[in-house]
Amino acid sequence: MKKIFLLLLFLPQIIFAQTFPSPHFPQNVFRNPLDIPMLLAGGYGEIRPGHFHEGLDLKTEGRIGLPVHAAAAGYISRISISNTGFGHVVYVTHPDGFTTVYGHLNRFNPALENYVKQQQYAKESWAVDLKFPPGMFPVKQGQLIAYSGATGSVAGPHVHFEIRNTLSEHPLNGLLFGLNIKDNIPPTVYRMALYNMDRSIYEQNPDVYGLQKESGIYAPSKKLILFNGDKIGFGVQALDHMNNTSGTFGIYEEILYVDGKPQIGFRLNNIGYEETRYVDAHTDYKTFKETGRHFELLFSLPGNKLPIYYNFGGNGTLDISDGKAHTIKIIVRDADGNTSTVQFEVQKNPTFKGLEKMNYANTMYVSSRNIFENNHVQFYLEPGTLYDSICFHYQQVSTDKPGFHSGIFQLGNSDIPMYHSFNLNLKPQKTIPESLHNKVVIVRRDSRGSGEDVRAAKWDRGWLVARFNNFGNFSIQTDTIPPVITPLNIHDNVDLSKAADIRFRIGDNKSGVASYRGELDGKWLLFGQKRNVIYYTFDEHCPPGEHTLKLTVTDAVSNQSVRIYHFKR
Ligand SMILES: [Zn+2]
Repeated sequence: MKKIFLLLLFLPQIIFAQTFPSPHFPQNVFRNPLDIPMLLAGGYGEIRPGHFHEGLDLKTEGRIGLPVHAAAAGYISRISISNTGFGHVVYVTHPDGFTTVYGHLNRFNPALENYVKQQQYAKESWAVDLKFPPGMFPVKQGQLIAYSGATGSVAGPHVHFEIRNTLSEHPLNGLLFGLNIKDNIPPTVYRMALYNMDRSIYEQNPDVYGLQKESGIYAPSKKLILFNGDKIGFGVQALDHMNNTSGTFGIYEEILYVDGKPQIGFRLNNIGYEETRYVDAHTDYKTFKETGRHFELLFSLPGNKLPIYYNFGGNGTLDISDGKAHTIKIIVRDADGNTSTVQFEVQKNPTFKGLEKMNYANTMYVSSRNIFENNHVQFYLEPGTLYDSICFHYQQVSTDKPGFHSGIFQLGNSDIPMYHSFNLNLKPQKTIPESLHNKVVIVRRDSRGSGEDVRAAKWDRGWLVARFNNFGNFSIQTDTIPPVITPLNIHDNVDLSKAADIRFRIGDNKSGVASYRGELDGKWLLFGQKRNVIYYTFDEHCPPGEHTLKLTVTDAVSNQSVRIYHFKR
């Protein structure tokens, strides 16, 4: 393996300060967007796969169709519709520098709904992302903008409500704006993890201690912990709770004290979309993948650029080589100031003889351009892809499975998080017939062999290339099977006079559905999508009479299925 070292300075993003800066968020300028009391199903700073949750999930009593009002005066600056993410979403820009966002909506108010439909027909696309100038859709505080729903990536009905800085577009902690949300319950602290700071976080298993609350303080059962190492770092598994809701919420801030002096803290109130992926560096991602537990770290990994850490006198690495017992206190706080405290003592284990040597032969570093190449596999990771160094392992396993045009390449460990994606180049080991050249995919499974991540592959001088976000087990396969179309309420020559809509389930076994197109009598027809169901709701575009509906569904390597139905309306 070749390594190229670039003189790039990767310093963790730690701000030197005496205390946290006080956030200047205006109080009581935003109203509750709903007409029912504000109860949350999710809050700011929750750890989600690959991002922080940065809105307030407003409960809608399990219902859809509740009126959603502008939280303050301003204008509708953006509307977007998607099958994923926020689904149907409205953005309202306010004159004081904030933008509010309302997601997972069922539909917009009638004026917007009409405008959006015109745009969808003009663009021949159900999914749209429309931006508006100030004069077009002005709103007063409390004006009806939409109806709540469960669109996009959701488990159930709710409104995702965000307050953003208009200029930076950073979502801010909505709990800090004086909204009427009752919370006098302190966070629960479940466990803590101790890390050896002389070793990469990805090349160790932390010492994990369960915590019990006794006379108001969380502590491990042994009050003095003996640690096998000279330098120690801390992680905390905690969740917040609020009154009148069973939901669990993210932590607002934590501060580490050593022998009574503040060392380091983090605070979650302003995280940009380009930074939110660093959630995988703020937490111990590998331990999460192995145990399902999220430990938030009280130190910043070398590749972590999240600007949430404040140095009050230390960087989170505690040197215990003096052999003395040190008092550790960790304060865990929610956005309402409810506080929990963890306290214990830690001392270097007198029997500790030093760490085992790491295998440095295949180390990949945070600030290097890490290159791997042999006759069958080539890739490189740009500097800043990794959050901490790793020992990279490689193995090739042959397979006789039909449809495979290569062995299985086991590249590294899929439990290692990455900031940037990378181009993986694989060389086929069996001849791929010319007729299948545009049907080739690279398939990734995680290191446990589960999950399937299929990408259409491009040819480049005899190699196949596709982009991935993680290591894992890779192979070259082909996808020749067209998507499956399952009609849910239509068959040929049916009378649909009494039907409200036309629905199909669509799916693809391998590379996935890339696009679909419905045409009524030769003209594009608006089919919406909810997960794997597409639907047309009868409207003026389908007047009474005889009609022909043609549906085309295409997968990521251009396999196509076409269905044609004649029906009466
Ligand atoms: Zn949400």
